[in-house]
Amino acid sequence: MKYQAERELVIKYAVEMEDRDLTVGTSGNVSMRVDDGAIITPSTIPYKEIRPEDCCLLDLEGGVLEGEKIPSVEHKVHLECYKARSDVNAVIHAHPTVASAFAAARIPLPAFLDEFGVYVGDEVRVAEYAISGTVEIAKSAVDTMGETANAVFLASHGMVCVGRDLAGAMHVARQVERGAQIYLWTKMLGGPVDLPEDSKNLFAQVFAFYRTR
Ligand SMILES: [Zn+2]
Repeated sequence: MKYQAERELVIKYAVEMEDRDLTVGTSGNVSMRVDDGAIITPSTIPYKEIRPEDCCLLDLEGGVLEGEKIPSVEHKVHLECYKARSDVNAVIHAHPTVASAFAAARIPLPAFLDEFGVYVGDEVRVAEYAISGTVEIAKSAVDTMGETANAVFLASHGMVCVGRDLAGAMHVARQVERGAQIYLWTKMLGGPVDLPEDSKNLFAQVFAFYRTR
């Protein structure tokens, strides 16, 4: 079996996703890029019960290279991220409470905090609704995220976060959920004050530097 260490890493972050309440039960999924394609969590197995051999090795077109389990239903979203963005080596798809509320209301989350712009990008936009698991949802997610953000909301569903590695994608996922919470509190206090243009430009440059470094 290839990629033992990578499979263990994918499982570690899938368990962390659940432990951090970024998703519930077997919903969501985690993957990382490897030379042959991507390693992704299997469908319907509780995260804490997944063994390395249960993870699926897919080529970027979705062909199963190794693994007897069914790959996560959202694997097309992951693969589209890898195809569209050479800087992306890890993808986390999750359904955290507050971020999912933004996805349900179809309200984008702007970069209203300093750190947010550096790690998450200019805005978490909302990809048009499409049925879970389809090519349409995968394309819509990647097109809507673009190259200026590392996260996107899936309308009436959840979010997709990307990073140069799993630690980076997890950091983005946590920032988005926390940012969504802070945004709600800020709205109750009258709404966020817009950041100065030169700060926004600086964060955009730092974001692009980290992304393409
Ligand atoms: Zn989902």
